[in-house]
Amino acid sequence: MSSNKVKFDAGDVIIQQGDEGYCAYIVKSGHIEILIEKENGLVQRIGTRGPGSIIGEMALIDKKPRTATIKAVDECILMEITQADFDSRLENSDSVIQMVTKVILARYRDLITRAQILNTADINKTPEELEKGLIDKTNAVADIQLSNELQQAFDQNHLELHYQPIIDTNTEQTKGIEALIRWNHPEKGFISPDIFIPVAEENGLIVDISRWVTSQACLALQHIKSQCEIEDLFVSVNYSALDFADPSFRPYLKRTLKETGVAPHELHIEITERLLMNNPSNAREVLEECQKDGMLISIDDFGTGYSSLSYLYYFPINILKIDRSFIVNMITDNNAFELVKSIISLSHNLKMKVIAEGIEEKEQHDILQNMECDQLQGFCFAKPMPIDDLVAFIKNKNA
Ligand code: C2E
Ligand code: CA
Ligand code: CA
Repeated sequence: MSSNKVKFDAGDVIIQQGDEGYCAYIVKSGHIEILIEKENGLVQRIGTRGPGSIIGEMALIDKKPRTATIKAVDECILMEITQADFDSRLENSDSVIQMVTKVILARYRDLITRAQILNTADINKTPEELEKGLIDKTNAVADIQLSNELQQAFDQNHLELHYQPIIDTNTEQTKGIEALIRWNHPEKGFISPDIFIPVAEENGLIVDISRWVTSQACLALQHIKSQCEIEDLFVSVNYSALDFADPSFRPYLKRTLKETGVAPHELHIEITERLLMNNPSNAREVLEECQKDGMLISIDDFGTGYSSLSYLYYFPINILKIDRSFIVNMITDNNAFELVKSIISLSHNLKMKVIAEGIEEKEQHDILQNMECDQLQGFCFAKPMPIDDLVAFIKNKNA
């Protein structure tokens, strides 16, 4: 029995989320990307895979709906392995291989079944919650491996930073940059920070990662300012709740600023609304101290944390970053439009600046300019990029 080779062109859908699974694929050449469509319609990019990787392998166990969409990034040749094909290869293989494969598959099945039993025991859960619980449990095994690999990548200096410009709405000049971490896994390819940052939060590595990001980002800021001959530029760094619980967090920031020559107001501390609510009194204390030192506090993903607006008074906040989900819906949904408008005027009344995230279209830029939003960030201007590309981008804009 021979497996089929199939060719896909860039952009072709190889696997569609929700469809019945009937085969797995091995990537022979080219690259694919894995996307998950969420309930709110947003599509999250999980990562890319290259030659040698296997995709859709759950279909070798059962025909359950695909949990992700997989698309070809460039021209790809894939080897299709159907369940029948797989069973027949197994039957013809060495007896040891047969036994090991069967045991591994049986354990995998078992893990899933146990997760199902645990979940279905809760009669109050909706089918979506059950499915999510199932995915969480099966992911737990993969997380342990990822956690070890992440530690290794950090120790071996395999993590990188990319920078995305933050643009002045009126002049379109770059006012700041956001540091965004990147992990290019030697076998698995690009892994999204949305996947590995939670793992780093879980195993505690996030504290070391945040320190590394802070010092790299401060050095990058100085490099860009001198290369592009600009005075007025800030750098935004994303922090996590664990950073705030670490008593040496603030001394570390102060020391890094001093050592790199970055002025405190040039460092923006980004923290999501959701993380602030983990331990509000501790977060407030740390943020107040940092603000006293001159750093600016930026609330990330604003509007997604479902917390009461009174927290805008409770925390020391300089900047609100309106989440991309509102910006995406602003053109078609009048409620989103009015909400964005209200957030901007509320922030200005409270003497806060506003940055809108995820600007992908000129129309969104025009609307936000009319609403007097201060700064914008999004693919419409530039994607996150390595430092040298950013220097070229700014020089080109200023020319
Ligand atoms: P975030 O802080 O909300 O970062 C913005 C994310 O939106 C980035 O994704 C960026 O690439 C993406 N983005 C920017 N403009 C657009 C646009 O126009 N359209 C779309 N579709 N996306 C856009 P990225 O780099 O994958 O980072 C994902 C999240 O991972 C970040 O969300 C942040 O929460 C976290 N993260 C990234 N780097 C770090 C880090 O160094 N430390 C910590 N603690 N978290 C980080
Ligand atoms: Ca951010
Ligand atoms: Ca954000």
